Amino acid sequence: MNFSRRGFGQAALAAALAGCRSRAGESVIIHGGPIYTGVAARPLVQALRIENGLIVFAGPLDEARSNARGAREIDLNGAAAFPGLTDAHVHLAGVGMTSMRLDLTGVGSIASLQESLRAYSVEHPNGAIVGRGWIETHWPERRFPTRADLDAVVSERPVFLERIDGHAAVVNSAALALAGIGDDTPDPAGGHIERDASGAATGMLIDNATGLVERALPAPTSQMVRDALRRGAQLYASRGWVGICNMSTSGQEAAHFRDLAEAGELPLRADLYLQPQDAQLAADAGELNIAKVHIRGVKLYMDGALGSRGAALLAPYSDAPSSRGLLVTPLEELRAHLRRAREAGYQAATHAIGDRGNRLVLDAYHDTFAGDAAALRAARWRIEHAQVIAPEDIPRFGAMGVIASMQPSHAISDLHFAPARLGPDRLAGAYAWRALLDSGAVIAAGSDAPVEKGDPLIEFYAAFHRHDLSGFAGSDWNAGQAVRREEALRMLTAAPAYSVFEEQRRGTLEAGRVADISAFSADLMRDEPDAIPVAEAVLTVAGGVITHSAL
Ligand SMILES: [Zn+2]
Repeated sequence: MNFSRRGFGQAALAAALAGCRSRAGESVIIHGGPIYTGVAARPLVQALRIENGLIVFAGPLDEARSNARGAREIDLNGAAAFPGLTDAHVHLAGVGMTSMRLDLTGVGSIASLQESLRAYSVEHPNGAIVGRGWIETHWPERRFPTRADLDAVVSERPVFLERIDGHAAVVNSAALALAGIGDDTPDPAGGHIERDASGAATGMLIDNATGLVERALPAPTSQMVRDALRRGAQLYASRGWVGICNMSTSGQEAAHFRDLAEAGELPLRADLYLQPQDAQLAADAGELNIAKVHIRGVKLYMDGALGSRGAALLAPYSDAPSSRGLLVTPLEELRAHLRRAREAGYQAATHAIGDRGNRLVLDAYHDTFAGDAAALRAARWRIEHAQVIAPEDIPRFGAMGVIASMQPSHAISDLHFAPARLGPDRLAGAYAWRALLDSGAVIAAGSDAPVEKGDPLIEFYAAFHRHDLSGFAGSDWNAGQAVRREEALRMLTAAPAYSVFEEQRRGTLEAGRVADISAFSADLMRDEPDAIPVAEAVLTVAGGVITHSAL
């Protein structure tokens, strides 16, 4: 597709952005590229007209114009527009924190590492400094950096700079002191504290020794959390997201979400799932909810993750016959949380990755509603990840009305180790999107960022193509579990809306719906798969407000 960024003049862009929220009664018409509505009866339209944050018309351009003289127009200039995409599982503070860290990729010398650290320390005058990305291979100094190199720039507060491979870090003296690492500190199991000829720690920590400092770093301040959420939200809008389901949200984060929204600094709609210790907030949610920020429920954990063999499996790991994974929450505790959720009327969203973890959660959901199938279905409880499911349990999602909240990108990251962990037989129920949809389940798709990047184009690509970003997928990777493009779009639009009880208002582009629109430089419905992850978000409209434009 030939999409040019140049056609839309700066003056027009400035005018479009200046209005930001369309004024009461003002009309905005969007046209100039394929507009996919997500409505089966009329999947493509020429134009949308927006008034007061709502879509008031979807259809032919001349008709859009004839009813609205003087409407402001936004020309997509060939970009393709879709219902606004929502990330159904993200940790936005983590996304923002990652973007706030010192990025040292590409620094060419110890001197330039010091220069980057100096600049960053001026911009971020408080708290510990965490950075990542350096590698000394081609540096003129021909040595590792040391704590003295860092102390020369920042000495009063801890500095922790991870090597690009994540297997080593250099820290300053304040960080060593914070972690209690002295000349006599023994190497931890699986780690090494580098020392100079006199036996003093140099500041270089290898493998598990890096954890000594990481664990000692102070928790982020409230202001840092607020900044992280703000930056994360801006980054997300710039990638084309209009909304999120934020997982494991703390009470403090929930308050910041509300404050940011009220200050006009949250360019996303946010539905929050709280960490278990703040579950009471979910019971009180009615009074706390505002237009853009809703507390929906509680995020619980059943088991661990597949990569670290923490996911609870019915049979042993194929590559570790003595392990079946583990439950991170005792079943009785999980059930007590679920009872409270049912009584107070909020959603449960429970992390389950292994086939045993998923079965236990399905059983616990069923038992919590004492077999009242209609009440369970109406509650729209969710299982987060739902990665490995025993074939006989797959139809239970649809039958019970349990939402599968899945991350397409996990399938293309995990395809490099999941076959070894699970063996060929269990792969049939792994990341089994096709089977889940065919059995009537709703799949709401998300990224789990910052575990994955948090890019809607990567999630969409992974869902319909099921190959990694280099185009690789093993022959055992069940290509048949990929979904069609229209289904991938629904997994990122209508399904997340359904998962937060908003399907009557969001998730499609038709008259009466909230004006949530994501436009990209690639046509997700038609372009070659490999053109999609490298495309760009060119226009994001959330609730009628332009939150990102690169037109
Ligand atoms: Zn997560």
